[in-house]
Amino acid sequence: MVCDKEFEIIPSKGQYFILDKSQKDLVKHVLFQCPSKVGKGVLIAPTSHNNIIIGPNAESNSEFSDKSTTFEGLNEVKEKVSKTISNVPYWENINNFSGLRANSTEADFIIRESKSCKNFIDLAGIKSPGLASCAAIGLMCLDILKDIGVNFIEKENYIDSRKIIRIKHLSPEERAEKIKENPLYGNIICRCITVSEGEIIDSLKMPLPPRTLGAVKKRTGAGMGRCLGGFCGPKVLDIISRELNIPPEEVYNTNFGSYIITGRTKEGEKNV
Ligand SMILES: Cc1cc2nc3c(=O)[nH]c(=O)nc-3n(C[C@H](O)[C@H](O)[C@H](O)COP(=O)(O)OP(=O)(O)OC[C@H]3O[C@@H](n4cnc5c(N)ncnc54)[C@H](O)[C@@H]3O)c2cc1C
Repeated sequence: MVCDKEFEIIPSKGQYFILDKSQKDLVKHVLFQCPSKVGKGVLIAPTSHNNIIIGPNAESNSEFSDKSTTFEGLNEVKEKVSKTISNVPYWENINNFSGLRANSTEADFIIRESKSCKNFIDLAGIKSPGLASCAAIGLMCLDILKDIGVNFIEKENYIDSRKIIRIKHLSPEERAEKIKENPLYGNIICRCITVSEGEIIDSLKMPLPPRTLGAVKKRTGAGMGRCLGGFCGPKVLDIISRELNIPPEEVYNTNFGSYIITGRTKEGEKNV
């Protein structure tokens, strides 16, 4: 920490199921159960991409880096959600994941100037509903900075939005127009989500380009579908390597060192 230790984070893991889009009509709304001291309970909800999300459980005192999913944890989710809905078709599950809630030694979110470090704002313990609160947290920080006495000058060339092309959201006419402009918008790389080579290249040309398969997935959706990138993964890897001019062995799955390929296995194919 930059400042004295004023609080501690005590992570609490929550695990989820993601069902295929074929189940998009299973529920139409976010169905909550009664919240308890450990969280808002297990919910079932449609996602903005038309999948179904089920979870999370709440495992207190989790390890800081443990983002694994477990048989026991997922069974707990199944058991708890069965109070809301029965007969969930788990054979349509396409992925499981977990997240760590940043529970802290304080009851509420920690949003304040550090007591021991002037002009440094602590934003910590942002557990649930941190995502829903993010805009309000931003405004609160602005007020704290004003109170500290920071003088703000509005940026003249501030860009408040970026135009991003999503081929699958265009009408057939608009799509044809875009493909005429750039034929790479017509080369569909991710078939599950319908993401074109043009869109992936656009993301790689952003001011802060993604460098991993996971990052391209977050930016474009490529690899987020039913096959989990089984088909498009190698193609995305090739595109990243080509466009960013990095050797394929150095294109990672997510974090540094999460190798996808390590080199050739057959020396005889060296010059193929
Ligand atoms: C199980 C669970 C359920 C939740 N449910 C809800 C809910 O229903 N509603 C709600 O509003 N909120 C919910 N939350 C809380 C919400 O997810 C968080 O409050 C929110 O994501 C915090 O946003 P953030 O941007 O501060 O941090 P994060 O979303 O954690 O983003 C931090 C990013 O920084 C990256 N990063 C970390 N270290 C480095 C580094 N050294 N260099 C570069 N990048 C780095 C991480 O990879 C990550 O992408 C839930 C959280 C969990 C775990």
